[in-house]
Amino acid sequence: MMRIVLLGQPGSGKGTQAQRLAAAQGIPRLTTGEMLRVAVRDGAPLGKDAKRYMERGDLVPDQLIVALMQERMGTADCARGYILDGFPRTRVQAEALDAMLTTVGAALQHVLLLEVDEAEIRRRLSGRRECPKCGSTFHLTAQPPKVAGVCDRCQTALVQRPDDQEATIARRLAVYVRETKPLIGYYEARGLLRRVTAPGGPDEVFRAISSLITMGP
Ligand code: AMP
Repeated sequence: MMRIVLLGQPGSGKGTQAQRLAAAQGIPRLTTGEMLRVAVRDGAPLGKDAKRYMERGDLVPDQLIVALMQERMGTADCARGYILDGFPRTRVQAEALDAMLTTVGAALQHVLLLEVDEAEIRRRLSGRRECPKCGSTFHLTAQPPKVAGVCDRCQTALVQRPDDQEATIARRLAVYVRETKPLIGYYEARGLLRRVTAPGGPDEVFRAISSLITMGP
């Protein structure tokens, strides 16, 4: 049973590592950003509420996110664990997650903090391209698709997320510092925080994570 939280600034590699970890552990990744983008694209009520916050680079209100995750975490495929990617992002969300876990008699095993310096974060976000269909992510130079502009997995044309534009990136990084960074201390105090500082590419980071989670606390 693995319940893991991935913590880190936008662009720190949470999505990439969540995909790999989920595949390796045979459990789902619950990626709030992607769930919200799907809701926006499908014109779902949640998407209509969330869109304006996302476009500005602000966080979507806690009660919407908590309700979304409560529903998602209650589905059958989550019974054997999950990788949380992008949730929790505020203290209120972290406390709601604790309450949800307590209700089902479960606990988190690890909170992995992906540490990357700010210049690298900006480079990554501005070069990031995403598949609007399957959610796979690429980078123009660091992780290009096999065919330029096309998803390796499903051959859909790649797009730049609107919130990966320069001005919105700055806002998202500021929101991270104000709202999400305090969770480092929150999980450190519970003995759950594992820092991943591997400076290399995604393979190296994945190796570091794999050895951290198999070693245990
Ligand atoms: P991400 O793909 O994780 O960078 O998320 C994209 C956007 O979705 C964020 O900038 C927020 O507007 C919203 N979002 C994703 N996860 C959360 C969350 N846990 N709480 C609030 N807003 C979120």
